[in-house]
Amino acid sequence: MSVFWLIGALVFGLGAAVGSFLNVLVYRTHHGKDWIKGRSSCEHCGRAIAWSENVPILSYLFLRGRCAHCGQKIDVAHPLVELLTGFLFLWWYVAGFLFFRLTSAPLQSVQPLFWLLVGSVFVVILVSDLKYLIIPRWTLITLTVATLLYRGLLLVNHELQLADFGVSLLWTLGLTGFFLSLWWITKGKGFGFGDVQLAVPLGLILGSWQRILVGVFLAFLIGAVVGGGLVIIGKKQFRQPIPFGPFLLLGTALSLVWGFDLWAGYVRMIGG
Ligand SMILES: [Zn+2]
Repeated sequence: MSVFWLIGALVFGLGAAVGSFLNVLVYRTHHGKDWIKGRSSCEHCGRAIAWSENVPILSYLFLRGRCAHCGQKIDVAHPLVELLTGFLFLWWYVAGFLFFRLTSAPLQSVQPLFWLLVGSVFVVILVSDLKYLIIPRWTLITLTVATLLYRGLLLVNHELQLADFGVSLLWTLGLTGFFLSLWWITKGKGFGFGDVQLAVPLGLILGSWQRILVGVFLAFLIGAVVGGGLVIIGKKQFRQPIPFGPFLLLGTALSLVWGFDLWAGYVRMIGG
């Protein structure tokens, strides 16, 4: 058991390091900088960050959230993303790896790795949308292409029926059309075009109509609760838009894990 948790701690550390990299991706995507070249630098004074100041989570705590050079505040999103990605990896290791390993022999590693990639890209979209109100196009393309490749692999290995895949494509089209009409009706003020584009990979990832319905329902439910809460505590005006992308991601993530259970529960409730 102790070895299990020792590896768990390492996996968490690895996740936090990946989170640190995701922070850089979000920042450099938004500022149009090269992903690979150049070292990380302070967002205020531009001084290069030494490796000892770049240890995930710990450096933020050690520096008390301020740049060692200019003393300006480091965005709290950085350690939060590292923490979130660390927990994503830890969850994947403890529960997700087995949870997602449902396929037969050749795909038993591909499947969990695919879902880990999806989770990591979700983190990037979440931060970008919350911080800059923008969903980077490369994240949408990565999710769409990776999901289609993965489903193609399932098809070839007879883990997925062609008819089921076709139905999931139709539902994705429907979901995208739904958000397109919301975008059109609200004239882009309630729902951004980013939400419409996000519906494409999310529909593909959810892959079944039960999960799509549960995911969208949860997104609206959580969005209404959080939005209402922000209005009540005076953080937002009633008509002021809040990004819907994070709620879509949250609804999708919850539906991926519990979608079928929630749907079965709903069907029992209405006596179907
Ligand atoms: Zn600085």
